[in-house]
Amino acid sequence: MNIHEHQAKAVLAEYGVPVPRGYPAFSVDEAVAAAEKLGGPVWVVKAQIHAGGRGKGGGVKVCKSIDEVRAEATRMLGMTLVTHQTGPKGKLVQRLYIEEGASIAKELYLSLLVDRETSRVAVVASTEGGMDIEEVAHSTPEKIHTFSIDPATGPWPHHALALSKALNLTGEAAKQARTLLPALYNAFVDKDMALLEVNPLIITGDGALKLLDAKVSFDDNALYRHKDVQALRDESEEDAKEIEASKHELSYIALDGEIGCMVNGAGLAMATMDIIKLYGAEPANFLDVGGGASKEKVTAAFKIITADPNVKGILVNIFGGIMRCDIIAEGVVAAVKEVGLKVPLVVRLEGTNVELGKKIINESGLDVIAANDLADGAEKIVRAVKG
Ligand code: ADP
Ligand code: MG
Repeated sequence: MNIHEHQAKAVLAEYGVPVPRGYPAFSVDEAVAAAEKLGGPVWVVKAQIHAGGRGKGGGVKVCKSIDEVRAEATRMLGMTLVTHQTGPKGKLVQRLYIEEGASIAKELYLSLLVDRETSRVAVVASTEGGMDIEEVAHSTPEKIHTFSIDPATGPWPHHALALSKALNLTGEAAKQARTLLPALYNAFVDKDMALLEVNPLIITGDGALKLLDAKVSFDDNALYRHKDVQALRDESEEDAKEIEASKHELSYIALDGEIGCMVNGAGLAMATMDIIKLYGAEPANFLDVGGGASKEKVTAAFKIITADPNVKGILVNIFGGIMRCDIIAEGVVAAVKEVGLKVPLVVRLEGTNVELGKKIINESGLDVIAANDLADGAEKIVRAVKG
């Protein structure tokens, strides 16, 4: 789960991390009131969307007067902000963050993430922070330093030294790194974050460290133990189909293609997406209905797939192990009877209760194309959609 920059900064501030003062605003009046409370003389108006690259897209503006804050807030609220992370459709700006302007001597990069390979928390740091970190990673990867922290011990003083070295910190900033790194690490572990990215971390004109941007995402599997984090959820930033899927505990990810997929097992779902591409089409989603799915769950999954206007055909690919083919068949039939079937449907069933599953589909009177195996199913659905 992702949260907004202003929320991430509020969470981190609880751990003693230095962030600029600021207030969220949902209207122009609120933005002006926030600016008045901050007092100036420099403000930054920042669009709050769940995507980075806002600066380059016109979603971060430094203002020198309240009038300027008002003008930028008016321009940004309601705009569709397109950045390299939003995709071409962009994201609607519904809230702003009004922050005091910081004097920037140097922009750095710092992030913490779970490194599955080492089972540790990886720290990634670079002196080349700011808006072009992707370009730095691409063309000068030697400027990006990585080390990891063992969760059994947590951060040690030598980790702060490693960070200072990676970021070329001296004086006050180096001293501050000794408390900043443990503070970020504690926030990361306490709140079960999956990613904490600070770009830029700055050295201010006075030589101190400050976080100017913060992007945080949480491990969904740990959300149940963080009511405070759940309260930060902004569903308007999320895909409506994914929200519906999460209510039914379905692993669903919306994609851009035209073939809706209903599969059991993450591996088979990946293979199904691959083979659809191999036959010349694109999957509209990743969907793993899971092992012990009920008829209701399958029905919900089918409805989510058909609700996507991009879906021009559906491929159901089930290898019944724990999942029984007859349950899938019943779910598909029930869903089609409820929502109707406006696109071709190919069903491939194999495994436990396959004969019963096929019988349910055959006797349903539905216009279903039967497939014998994965390749056959992919070929048939692509042909049905593309002719
Ligand atoms: P994004 O990463 O989405 O582009 P940032 O929050 O990183 O958004 O802002 C982009 C740039 O704007 C930063 O690299 C920094 O140069 C400038 N900036 C952001 N916040 C402030 C601030 N409070 N004071 C001064 N400059 C800022
Ligand atoms: Mg940034």
